[in-house]
Amino acid sequence: MPVRKIVTYGHPVLEKVANPVSEIDDEILDLARDMVLTMHAAPGIGLAAPQVNVSKRVITVDLSVGENPDDLIILVNPQFIETEGEEVNEEGCLSVPGIHENVKRPTRVRVKGLDLKGKERVVDATGQLARVFCHEIDHINGRLFIEKLSPLKRALVKKKLRKGQETA
Ligand SMILES: [Zn+2]
Repeated sequence: MPVRKIVTYGHPVLEKVANPVSEIDDEILDLARDMVLTMHAAPGIGLAAPQVNVSKRVITVDLSVGENPDDLIILVNPQFIETEGEEVNEEGCLSVPGIHENVKRPTRVRVKGLDLKGKERVVDATGQLARVFCHEIDHINGRLFIEKLSPLKRALVKKKLRKGQETA
């Protein structure tokens, strides 16, 4: 199962708090590999396991979208150690197709998690990379970026998304 199907807005898995990974076994290795393929194929710069209908705390991030292998970051059980500042920038989501909105996020984050060998990895990120980490960690906590919009904006976006689903 290489490239997996990305679930979209309205699917219940996107609203669930994902389960921590207790052991990095073959299932997790397969999941991580497939997530990277799925993210690159989409194409996207980040993906969280719930987006491929797996409620586990695994995220993949690659600002280069496959161009630079050094940019690929896979984190199991990621969590914030520090967040700092705030900035507003446009964001989209593979699970919320067609919607791009300004969202406030920290300017700088320090994230820790496990790599696929089970070794702890700490990543410092600013700007776009920090934003992607925030977006993907929100996913494993069952939150979509549109929940961060103002109530009015959110209502408009949800209306648009429902309309899209009806005509799909
Ligand atoms: Zn997303």
